[in-house]
Amino acid sequence: MKVLAVLYPDPAGGYPPQYARDSIPVIDRYPNGQTTPTPSGLDFTPGELLGSVSGELGLRGFLEAAGHKLVVTSDKDREGSDFDRELASADVVISQPFWPAYLTRERIEAAPNLRLAITAGIGSDHVDLDAAIEHGITVAEVTFSNSISVAEHTVMMILALVRDYLPQWQVVKDGGWDIADVVSRSYDLEGMHVGAFGAGRIGTAVLRRLKPFDVHLHYTDKHRLPPEVEAELGVEWHETVQDMVPQCDVVTIHAPLHHETEGLFDEALLGTMRRGAYLVDTARGKICDRDAVVRALESGQLAGYAGDVWFPQPAPPDHPWRTMPHHGMTPHTSGTSLSAQARYAAGTREILECFLEGRPIRDEYLIVDGGALAGAGAHSYTAGGR
Ligand code: NDP
Repeated sequence: MKVLAVLYPDPAGGYPPQYARDSIPVIDRYPNGQTTPTPSGLDFTPGELLGSVSGELGLRGFLEAAGHKLVVTSDKDREGSDFDRELASADVVISQPFWPAYLTRERIEAAPNLRLAITAGIGSDHVDLDAAIEHGITVAEVTFSNSISVAEHTVMMILALVRDYLPQWQVVKDGGWDIADVVSRSYDLEGMHVGAFGAGRIGTAVLRRLKPFDVHLHYTDKHRLPPEVEAELGVEWHETVQDMVPQCDVVTIHAPLHHETEGLFDEALLGTMRRGAYLVDTARGKICDRDAVVRALESGQLAGYAGDVWFPQPAPPDHPWRTMPHHGMTPHTSGTSLSAQARYAAGTREILECFLEGRPIRDEYLIVDGGALAGAGAHSYTAGGR
């Protein structure tokens, strides 16, 4: 079998010879009780850089020992890229949402051997799921592997925006002490109303982490949380996002990208938010209208915007979100901390082991299987509309 992994490039200064920390905590279970990945072994030390080309998701030893071929590249977008060339004879494609190998219908149709597309991470919207269904390709992702990583990043971004942290850090870097300048946009989160659009694995973890900040919590989701969870968090449910956002000082987005959510945060919805509200999106960039966000920041309708998801990825150097005022954007990093990489690399190996040995892949990892949406995918996505 030929396994093609499309991973982000190595650090500009070379693959790290040493890490900031000697180990990472061992985590056996996620908050819902699901076990972390259980491959038969690991060819890497958790805490190493695995998501870039030289890290190879720690897969080479295991795949080659079993007689399979691993091809790794970061070259994915240009005409005639390595991705396009190698895809023609690949049986398995692995890609991370941070550096998505867009598996369009056209590409799927140009890959006659392709049987399995693995998302090393969570979120398979870079795969044309309808085309995968039609061509009998299994799509799987490592559910829960980086959900808490994203939740932590989201809380960091909410605090950074409300307290206006980044300009203050910049003053220090620049050798200044201009306190009045940089506190003129700085507030406390305490007492604010914070709403989550989507309260699944990540959204609920964000709400749970924000509760000790003594904020008023809100959420909207297709399905309500169990009453005991609503009571534990003291969170108010709203039937629609349109009902929720006018009541919030901070809105954080945690729903997947599909036909109902694409472009949802447009000029009209942003216009119903409180003047000076903050918006954080760590779900998918296309859920927000790119130019409407820029205009809302320029007019003061939004006091700040942060997130780590863009379209396309990598974002071009002139993407307006790089230069718009009062933003706290990062590249798509929240779900690819070294801690997260260890889990999704292990999960990728678990999925490969199942596939290569003809064993069933865990249901919670499946998005498409046997020509239909399956497992987690049957819950999160809609065929015929992503
Ligand atoms: P979950 O599936 O656990 O939660 C998503 C929630 O959104 C579900 O409760 C779902 O409702 C709800 N939802 C879906 N559509 C709508 C809608 N139209 N209106 C209201 N609610 C809706 O996903 P996760 O929490 O694990 O992840 C959320 C998203 O975060 C992923 O889809 C992915 O795009 C993104 N992500 C980003 C990462 C990053 O690195 N930045 C890493 C990992 C994920 P229900 O299921 O009840 O129908």
